[in-house]
Amino acid sequence: MKPLVSPKRIPSSYAKKILVVFDLDGTLTESKAPMDAEMATLFVNLLRKKRVAVIGGGRYTLFKEQLIAPLEGHPRELFRNLFLFPTTSTAFYRYHHGWKNVYIHRFYSGERAKIKRAFREVLREAGYTPPQKVYGKIIEDRGTQVTFSALGQDIVARLGVKEGVRRKEEWRRKYTPLKMKIARLLAKRLPNLEVRAAGFTSIDVTKKGIDKSYGLRQIEKYMHVPIKEMLFVGDALFRGGNDYAARLTGVDCVAVRGPEDAKTVIRRLVEPRVR
Ligand SMILES: [Mg+2]
Repeated sequence: MKPLVSPKRIPSSYAKKILVVFDLDGTLTESKAPMDAEMATLFVNLLRKKRVAVIGGGRYTLFKEQLIAPLEGHPRELFRNLFLFPTTSTAFYRYHHGWKNVYIHRFYSGERAKIKRAFREVLREAGYTPPQKVYGKIIEDRGTQVTFSALGQDIVARLGVKEGVRRKEEWRRKYTPLKMKIARLLAKRLPNLEVRAAGFTSIDVTKKGIDKSYGLRQIEKYMHVPIKEMLFVGDALFRGGNDYAARLTGVDCVAVRGPEDAKTVIRRLVEPRVR
């Protein structure tokens, strides 16, 4: 596995990479929030030079809100360089006269019911008590992925980015050990599925073998770009983080702490001589 590189120490050779893969939440955007205007401009500049793929845990409609809506007003032909892998690459969309689905790995309805039941049992067993007020569903069925969000799926949409993200960070500080316990118990109960602690407050369940390394291999397959010509940028590349699987492919990785770091990365890729 290659060592992680920090945004300020990116080797100049990385500017020659053919394709850049980003995580979404905590990397290009704050958790579940849209890209800010500065990021949108940088992102467009990157799309003019390189192919870009985004692999995130959120569903496709969230990708549209967080990533595509902020690019409104820029030339649409740039979207031909953009590849979307929502719900941890259980689905793939590309632009060709509009956004088109290339593949989607849905659960059978029986599987989804089984996962939701396992979640309910494990939450009880782990002693999880939901906070008095939650914002949206705690367990969301995304068709291709079932996701637990401790404070509810819609907290950022309802409370705004600042307050929503603040509360999620607070929950993470207090309850990460509880979350990891829930994830362990769930993995035992669902041995044929993939269970991953993700983001600040969530746990994702997908079909077995689907994680960000699967996403990178799909990019290799569909875009014919070898992994050594890719660069991966994420905020959870540490062991146990939801970007960690990407590292197992041997891809070069840049570890960021949030969107400001990711902007530094993009600046260095689009203007390689700016140091
Ligand atoms: Mg992230």
